[in-house]
Amino acid sequence: MITRREFLAISSVPVAARVAGHWESNPHIVEPIGDVSSALPWYATMRRCGQININERDPIDMDVEQWIDYWASLKVDAVLLNGGGIVAYYPTEVPLHHRSEFLGSRDLFGELTAAARAKGIRVVARMDCNYAYEPAVKAHPEWFERDEDGALRPHGESTWLFKTCMFSPYFSVQMPAIFREINRRYGVDGFFTNGWPGTGALTVCYCDACRDVYKTRVGGIPPPDTDATSPLYRKYYEVFMDRVVEIWEQWDGVAKEGSRDSVYVGNLGGGIRTVKDMWRIGRTAGWFNADHQGRAGNTPIWDCSLQGRVAAAMMKGATATNVTGAYANTQPLWRHIAKSPAEATLWMAQTTASGMVPWYHWLGAHPEDTRWRETGSDFFRWLADNEPHFRNRRSIADVAVVYPQRTVAFYRSGTGSEAWTGADRARTSEYLQGIYYALLEARVLVDFVAEDDLGEETLRKYGVLILPNAAYLSDRHVQQIHEYAARGGSILATFETSLYNEWGDRRRDFALADLFGATADGEVLPPHDNGYMRIEQIHPVVEGFGGTSLLPGAAERVPIRAADPSALVLSVVPAYPSFPPEMVFPRHPHTSEPAAVFRQNGRARVAYFAGDIDRTFWRSTNTDLSRLLDNTVRWLRGDRHPLATIEGDGVIEAFAWETEPGIALHLVNYTNPHMMRGWFRRFYPTGVLRIELAVPGGRPIQRARALRAGRDLPLQIEGTRLRFETPPVADYEVIALT
Ligand SMILES: [Zn+2]
Repeated sequence: MITRREFLAISSVPVAARVAGHWESNPHIVEPIGDVSSALPWYATMRRCGQININERDPIDMDVEQWIDYWASLKVDAVLLNGGGIVAYYPTEVPLHHRSEFLGSRDLFGELTAAARAKGIRVVARMDCNYAYEPAVKAHPEWFERDEDGALRPHGESTWLFKTCMFSPYFSVQMPAIFREINRRYGVDGFFTNGWPGTGALTVCYCDACRDVYKTRVGGIPPPDTDATSPLYRKYYEVFMDRVVEIWEQWDGVAKEGSRDSVYVGNLGGGIRTVKDMWRIGRTAGWFNADHQGRAGNTPIWDCSLQGRVAAAMMKGATATNVTGAYANTQPLWRHIAKSPAEATLWMAQTTASGMVPWYHWLGAHPEDTRWRETGSDFFRWLADNEPHFRNRRSIADVAVVYPQRTVAFYRSGTGSEAWTGADRARTSEYLQGIYYALLEARVLVDFVAEDDLGEETLRKYGVLILPNAAYLSDRHVQQIHEYAARGGSILATFETSLYNEWGDRRRDFALADLFGATADGEVLPPHDNGYMRIEQIHPVVEGFGGTSLLPGAAERVPIRAADPSALVLSVVPAYPSFPPEMVFPRHPHTSEPAAVFRQNGRARVAYFAGDIDRTFWRSTNTDLSRLLDNTVRWLRGDRHPLATIEGDGVIEAFAWETEPGIALHLVNYTNPHMMRGWFRRFYPTGVLRIELAVPGGRPIQRARALRAGRDLPLQIEGTRLRFETPPVADYEVIALT
C-alpha cells in the first residue's frame, strides 16, 4: 500500500521541490546526484520575484511595456500579475466572473503575460477568491459567508463586495473554472490567491454548507473565537484544516492540468503568530508564500527573520517567499507612498538571510511616488550579481528552538480559565520573542523546528533544543524530546512547558518532569513585580554576576519541587511590596524553592526555569536575564564548540548556509535607534567583526569575499575552523566562503 504523499513524491516532477528540502533533513543524501536542478520545478530554484498589483481602473491606460521593463531590470524570475477572482483583467467567459469595468476591448492580463514571457519572465496569475459582486449573490446565494442571522458579510471598506465561503462551491467549482480558463488561454506558470488561507484564527460561518459541516462532521456549531477547551472547536479545527488542504490540493491539481511544472501557492505569513496548523500546510504546499510585508507599531525589526525561521521549519528547504510591501504598510496605512529605503532594504535583507526568496510588491499601475523603484532594483540587482551564493542547500546551526504551534494557537494564561482574549494571543508570542532576543544578543546560529518534526533525522544536528514555554505538547512530542535527550541532546525549557496536552488539558505534572528533575507543586502564581532569584552556589550559568547575590525574578512561575534539593543554584525570593518605599523589604529572603533546575546526565544537560523568564526578559529587556539565558545556552553546549563566534560592536543577527558554491554567512545589522519600533531612517554601521566559523563536513574553503562590500577578505584557516574580519557592516553583509 502506498500513500498519496509517497505516490506524489515518486511520480510527480513538481514534488521534486519537496525532495530538495529532504536533502536538508536526510544525512544519507549528502549531495544531489547529477543535475537535479533541471529536474526541479521552476519555482524550486526561483530567487527573485516581483508583483505589480493593479486596480480595476488600471486597464484604461496601463503601460505594459514600461512595467515589464522595470521587473526585467530587477532580473526577477517571476512576476505576479492580476488574473481574476474579484475582478477579471481579461475577457473572461466564466459566468459571474466580474470583468473590470474599465477593461473595454483590452486583454490586459494577456498583454502583461506576453510581455513578461518575451523577457523570459515566468508568470504567476494573482487571484482573489475571497469576495464577489452582488450578481453572484443573486445567482448563487450559497457561495457566500453568512452571519448567524443569515446576513451576508460585506467587505469593511468596499461594501459592494461580499465574502465567499471556503466550504462552498465557490471554492471547489467556480474558482477551478476560472483557473482552467486562464490555464487554457495563457498557460501560466502558477496561481496565487491573495488572502487565503491565511494563518490566523479560524472563522465561523453560518451558510448552508457550513451548517451542514457542523451537523455532520463537527457535532454542533463551534464557538466563534479560538477556544481549544471546547470539544466542538477541537473538532472544527481538524475539519477546517481538512478543507484547507482539500482546496489547496484541488487547486494545485488544476494548476498542473496546465503544466506539470505549474503550482498553486496560497497566502500564509503571520510570522510567529499563527493559529492554523502550519506543519500540515507545509506538507501540502510546494511553495510557501509569507505575506509579511513590513512592520507597524511596536514591532522589532527582526520580525521578518522570525517569519523566515517559521517558513524554513515548515518547508524544510522547499521554496518560501516573503512579500516586501514597497508601500507604507504601517498604521495608518498608505498604499501609494513608498516605505523608507532603509526599512525596505532591511526587510528584503532579512528575507534573503533567513532563506526566503524576496518578492517586491507595489500597488497600482500609475504611481505618483516612484521612489521605491530604486530601492528594489538596487537590492535585486545585487542579489542577481551574486546569485549562486543565495542558492542554499541547508542551514548551519547547532541550536534549535521549537516553534510551539499549539501553544501559540491555543494557550490561555496559566492563572485562570477566563475567556481567551486578544491579550492572550499577543502574550503567546512573547515567550518566543524573549528567547529569540537573548539568542540574537548571544549571536547563536539557530534554527526553528516544528513541534511536529522532532524526530532524530531533524534534531541530530542540534546540540541544544530550546522549548520556550511549549506548554501544549502531545504525548508524541514529549516522547521525541525524551529520545533526543537520551541521545545526548541538551534542553532548555521554561515555565509551563509540557504541563498540558496538545489541546490544553492540564496534566497532573510536567510530562517532562523526569527530564527537568522537577515536579509541579501547585498552580501558576499570579503575575507580580519585585520578585527575585537568589544565587545559591557557583555555577557556570551565574558567571559574570559578581557584585550581586540577587537576580531579577520571573513575573510568573510554576511552584516546583526539585528531585535533588541539594543542587540548588537559583532559589526563589518571593515578591514583596514595591510601594511605598517603607514597605520594600523581603519577607522571605531565603527559601528552598528552586527558580530553576540544572542537571547533567552524560553529555545531555537540562536547564529548566520554572518562571517565564523569556517573556519577562522580552517585556523588561533586563540585561541580567539576557546574560542568564546566554550563560545557560553556553553551559548546555558542554564541550561542543559553537559553530560560530562573532566579536565586535553592533546588534547583529547571523545566519549561515551551506550553498551550492560553499558557505554563506549572512550578517544583518539591527544597530539602530529604530530597532524596536519602525522605521529605519538610515543605517548605523557595526564595528569591524571578528569571526570564527566551523566548516561543516570539511568542505574545502580557500576564499572569503564580502559580497556587499565587494571585496575579498584575508582568511585564516586552522583545521576545520575559519577566521576572518569583516569590514563594518552598514545594512547587510554576506561573506561567501568558497
Ligand atoms: Zn460558510
